[in-house]
Amino acid sequence: MVAFSAAALTSVIALAIGVSSGYFGGRTDEILMTVTNIMLVFPQLPLLIILAAFLGNVGPFVIAVILRLTSWPWGARVMRAQTLSIRRKEFVIAGGRRSGAVEHLDRPGVEPAAEDWLASAPLAQAERRGRRPPRRGCIMSAPLLSCRDVSVDYIVGGGTARACNRVALDIHPAETVGLAGESGCGKSTLAFAITRMHNAPALISEGQILYEGRDVLAMTPAELRASRWAETAMVFQSAISALNPVITIGEQICDVILAHRPVTRDEAWSRGEELLSMVGIARARMSAYPHQLSGGMRQRVVIAISLALRPRLIVMDEPTTALDVVVEREIMDELAQLKWKYGFAILFISHDLALMGEICDRIGIMYAGNLVELGAAAEVLENPRHPYTQGLVGSFPSIHGPRTRLHGIPGSPVNLLDLPQGCNFQDRCPARIAACARVAPHLLPAGLGHEAACHLVTPPQEARA
Ligand code: ADP
Ligand code: MG
Repeated sequence: MVAFSAAALTSVIALAIGVSSGYFGGRTDEILMTVTNIMLVFPQLPLLIILAAFLGNVGPFVIAVILRLTSWPWGARVMRAQTLSIRRKEFVIAGGRRSGAVEHLDRPGVEPAAEDWLASAPLAQAERRGRRPPRRGCIMSAPLLSCRDVSVDYIVGGGTARACNRVALDIHPAETVGLAGESGCGKSTLAFAITRMHNAPALISEGQILYEGRDVLAMTPAELRASRWAETAMVFQSAISALNPVITIGEQICDVILAHRPVTRDEAWSRGEELLSMVGIARARMSAYPHQLSGGMRQRVVIAISLALRPRLIVMDEPTTALDVVVEREIMDELAQLKWKYGFAILFISHDLALMGEICDRIGIMYAGNLVELGAAAEVLENPRHPYTQGLVGSFPSIHGPRTRLHGIPGSPVNLLDLPQGCNFQDRCPARIAACARVAPHLLPAGLGHEAACHLVTPPQEARA
């Protein structure tokens, strides 16, 4: 009984201190953890001997209590670590932010109906009030993927950084859409959101992502698992981190096929061999481990895996950035052939506008989380309307044209935690007007199938008045 009550006392103290410390954080955490650490520093046995000597002739009960009163710090630290890890889970962050309404999570039972939540989103309310200008664009066919005003926030210590702000982008079947912009403008964040591979502290805070009309953000974990690779595949920049280093290439390809298709291992293996030869790798390499392949071959393997289930959309986030230009060229040529043969759509993320000009049907330009220009590839590259796009295009040398001095874009990207009022690009813009400091520009038609978010292209009402 003595031992039981003493152990219970330890647990209660450890639980109270650990959970309070982890939950409240900040100053509370600092004070409680300082006390805990001080307690940990005292050697328990000498302390016990001193206390026992001080208290005089004590019985086993008092010794047990003293023992327990001094042995809670380890438990408190464990409880604090557990509390912190739960606090950082996406559903808790979202729950805290939306007081009960939870973002789109891989956890059944915790999120509200997407429609209810979207209906209450500020954007939906603004649109109902007719504040936001209607979007128009070139309509080719029903989009395969439709991002409707998607916002993604990172909840960090200093506040909320909006890495994607109401991004609206459609990708049609068999279309290649490029997404360009300087580092940190939100390209990868959007790619992760589209495939719902984003992790805390990233949250999709508003908008809708539809794949063939189905709401990706409302998919259950099972639906999501079935959709990944089979409908939407991903190729990310670093193939070495995408591949498992302790499993052979063949097994990794087979795993993807067997997880989605009712075939035998032998059938999956021979399909894997076919896939490897499709991307220009010898079939015998099925038994190789990732470290036995060159960077280019590893990227090809990832492309082969992405093609394994014949998805209709492949999201490629800087797939060739880590490769030299010769290997990049080979891979891009192979990709073009595969695309021609299988007709999948691609969201191609890169900062290489010249490469995009070759492979993309349309190009979108992002700046500080906003899509600032979108249009046919040739149109965007030859007739850029947004000053930022003009700066980007002007930073690339022309191989065939006359030799000219290149002008970079002056200044540095804005801090997402401290965005200015109005246009995010105003401080770096060589052509800003008064309205840029007051009104944030929206993506509006700037030509046939060409849109730009700039007051110079479409003056806001107040500037026209
Ligand atoms: P890009 O792919 O265009 O280089 P990212 O989508 O990776 O840019 O990042 C967009 C912005 O989001 C960056 O400015 C970065 O500061 C922020 N960001 C990215 N990942 C995190 C993260 N894990 N925590 C906090 N902020 C992040
Ligand atoms: Mg990126």
